[in-house]
Amino acid sequence: MSQLAQEIISAIRKVVPYEDTFVPLHEPSFQGNEWKYVKETIDSTFVSSVGKYVDRFEKDLAEFTGVKRAVAVVNGTAALHVALTLVGVKKNDEVFIPSLTFIATANAVSYCQATPHFVDSEESTLGVDPYKLKSYLKEIAIVKNDECFNKQTGRRIKAIIPMHTFGHPVDMDQLIEVCQQYHIDLIEDAAESLGSYYKGQHTGSFGKISAMSFNGNKIMTTGGGGAILTNDERLADMAKHITTTAKVPHKWEYVHDQVGFNYRMPNINAALGCAQLEKVPDFLNKKRSLAHKYSEVFKGVPGVTFKQETDYSQSNYWLNALVLDEANEGIRDEILNLSNSSNLMTRPVWMLMNHLPMFRNCPSMDISCAESLEKRIINIPSSSELGDK
Ligand SMILES: *Cc1c(COP(=O)(O)O)cnc(C)c1O
Repeated sequence: MSQLAQEIISAIRKVVPYEDTFVPLHEPSFQGNEWKYVKETIDSTFVSSVGKYVDRFEKDLAEFTGVKRAVAVVNGTAALHVALTLVGVKKNDEVFIPSLTFIATANAVSYCQATPHFVDSEESTLGVDPYKLKSYLKEIAIVKNDECFNKQTGRRIKAIIPMHTFGHPVDMDQLIEVCQQYHIDLIEDAAESLGSYYKGQHTGSFGKISAMSFNGNKIMTTGGGGAILTNDERLADMAKHITTTAKVPHKWEYVHDQVGFNYRMPNINAALGCAQLEKVPDFLNKKRSLAHKYSEVFKGVPGVTFKQETDYSQSNYWLNALVLDEANEGIRDEILNLSNSSNLMTRPVWMLMNHLPMFRNCPSMDISCAESLEKRIINIPSSSELGDK
């Protein structure tokens, strides 16, 4: 048994000293108006596609994130799918995504019959490395008629989807510059970053269009759910239209003017969302307090770093993460075993997308940093209520 593994468990235990109860990685908290609003949808019978909570949730969410419009949908994956569709990602296009992400980012690209093209992440943000991307583009890309092409495959590179890992914002200024130079559309996967800010601006408000998730394990939940964010009114109207079966509004007639999706968020989920969103400022405070406690105890543990926000950003600390030094990557599984067998849930980061069978042959830049991070990241208990106790 390595000493470091034991020191790490002891450090977590100082912050989360509940040895007799199982401590999950992330647990939702329902202590506000959740029951009241949800009950109202049931009492009124408007649990599904009609009711006031969807409009209210969209308005509240747009206000919270500082974008012009939000469109509520069934989950974050659907939000990404619609975002890609609306910027015009087509069959045979390539879309840059980090190799270090949750499967939803890659799946959404595949739903459009496009090909994910993997980019590397950087250690400081755990997100897309814009400098490395820039030099890679210099080598492989050519811009013709304001469109970017991959010289090696001949395919168009239509968009990039940076993802704000565990709530830590990507280096957006640099990335935006690269996107403009190469005419690549920016779509943010802000599924993990509600309440995270880059230079004071909310994540998900930089892209042409962005996706959020309200799955049960995210900082707030609607049960299952997601949203599309955009400052472009036209794109927002289109998003609303194609996520609601492209039905032309009419009192009784059923006319649809294109192939749409049934991706609308039901009213009962939006009711839960309205109540949860009221609590997000409170969740954020508690999460900051929890992250602060972890950062203090891990100062005394050499060989591992508690992931903290960069100087210019504010993280929501959705999932707290430890990053082992390269020399210690060999004890990751020991730490996972030790903690999970002693009532403390921890887990490694997702397997890199290009290590999965269906994406193994997709184009990729050198992703040595992501390859290294994959072996060294451990997520530790992060429920907001842990920051309160
Ligand atoms: C949660 C998540 C999504 C969306 O997930 P859904 O379960 O479909 O809501 C997308 N991308 C990332 C990075 C996520 O963590």
